[in-house]
Amino acid sequence: MSTSTLTPASVRTALEGGPAGSTTILTPDDDGYEAARAVEPGGVPWRPAAIVRPTDTAGVARAVRFARDAGAEVSVRSGGHSALGIGREDGALTIDLRGLDGVEIDTAGRTAWAGSGLTAGAYSTSVGRHGLVTPFGDTASVGIGGITLAGGIGLLARSRGLTIDSLLGAEVVTAHGEVLQVDADHDAELFWGLRGGGGNLGVVTRFRYALHDLPTVVGGMLLVPATPESVAGLVAAAEDAPRELTVILTTMSAPPMPFVPEEWHGRLVVMANVCWSGDPDAAEAGLAPLRAVAAAAGGTILDAVRPAPYADLLEPAPGGGIVATAGAFFAEGFDEQAAAHALTELETSPAMMRAVQLRVLGGAVADVPADATAFAHRDAPLLGYVMAAGPSPEAVAGYRPWVGALADRLRQRDGTYTGFVGDGDPRLARAAYPGATWDRLAALKRTYDPGNLFRANLNVPPA
Ligand SMILES: Cc1cc2nc3c(=O)[nH]c(=O)nc-3n(C[C@H](O)[C@H](O)[C@H](O)COP(=O)(O)OP(=O)(O)OC[C@H]3O[C@@H](n4cnc5c(N)ncnc54)[C@H](O)[C@@H]3O)c2cc1C
Repeated sequence: MSTSTLTPASVRTALEGGPAGSTTILTPDDDGYEAARAVEPGGVPWRPAAIVRPTDTAGVARAVRFARDAGAEVSVRSGGHSALGIGREDGALTIDLRGLDGVEIDTAGRTAWAGSGLTAGAYSTSVGRHGLVTPFGDTASVGIGGITLAGGIGLLARSRGLTIDSLLGAEVVTAHGEVLQVDADHDAELFWGLRGGGGNLGVVTRFRYALHDLPTVVGGMLLVPATPESVAGLVAAAEDAPRELTVILTTMSAPPMPFVPEEWHGRLVVMANVCWSGDPDAAEAGLAPLRAVAAAAGGTILDAVRPAPYADLLEPAPGGGIVATAGAFFAEGFDEQAAAHALTELETSPAMMRAVQLRVLGGAVADVPADATAFAHRDAPLLGYVMAAGPSPEAVAGYRPWVGALADRLRQRDGTYTGFVGDGDPRLARAAYPGATWDRLAALKRTYDPGNLFRANLNVPPA
């Protein structure tokens, strides 16, 4: 519990009007507060004292200084795809960045400045109009704020690397209320920490990204019957594929959606989300080993792979207030034994919805040395994720032991991915930031946030 004296009235008095007068303030009695505090997945109970929505960097700095002086916890919300983006302590202040949504594209220089309240989808659509991309994840509604600071593992990971590998600089408001322009030549150690260190080191108001020429990719979903052989075979094919191909495999019961043939509703399937970002003419050859695995499993149930702009492959999040719990793990591979175990567990789990997702890494992700950024898991071949979802927080609390046990069973190496951690468990922070990464982040924290103002995250306390 915080010692903050921050109240809705004190926030209004301090932040309404003034030079950053365009800041919108929402307190629990305001219309719009409930919608503004909602994050994805849903069911998050926390109610910050106020949610402030600045439209510029000065407004963010003002909110940070005010919260620091009031001794309040600050949480920072960009796309709201993590429970960590909403203030948890009584009297917390949530800085909602959705008003920072500008994009400035330098097509000649192949760079873009982007306001940190943008979603990955909105940004990708803007730069995509010029045939350009910056790699993000697989979901359009995820905020560029959270995903960039976590690392950013998506459909271009093996060919273009993580999001942070395309990050050239950032504008940051520190806990002291200072505005810094940070890049490889200015506050270089802070720039190192922003690339993977989550929201620990300040509020990023703008990111500067490298842009890659990529007018179209060949991608979309292959729906394949899930058997131990098909799951393990798809993983192996994705691992052996050239780096132009990135594959994200989600094994789950087929949802009763119109695009899924009715006889498959409720049966276990693998949704292979594929993205070929090399020469389009070579895509079929690149995808052939995956299709061969599908054929051996009885044939592809659905083939939605097509040439498309990268932005079109980013899907919206499920939404609808669904509540979820998840556990991430790194692995060396995924053999038939692991797949058989996962399938049995998915078949028998009591959870309303459950899935095991596998992201095949390698390629450009592993080109970068482990200590070059605060994302320390460069050589992990596979990132996995066990998820269970249901209608209410109470129902989902009951699924947690199942999620934890299955993730533990499938884990083959230490560590976790910041982006896939939805609570501030200190053990998970240690796992995300092992060894020297932890020490460097803790030293940065001592310099830039000695009072641990930014603790509503996967927290690294000051050294
Ligand atoms: C449906 C779904 C799909 C996903 N897919 C992927 C994927 O493909 N690849 C992947 O890597 N991750 C993925 N993620 C994980 C996602 O990257 C993280 O949850 C990320 O933190 C979400 O960012 P956000 O801005 O939307 O979240 P928020 O809830 O707004 O923020 C999350 C955290 O980031 C901090 N933060 C956000 N913006 C800033 C900022 N500007 N300055 C300082 N701190 C900030 C917050 O304080 C908080 O700790 C997915 C998550 C969901 C729910």
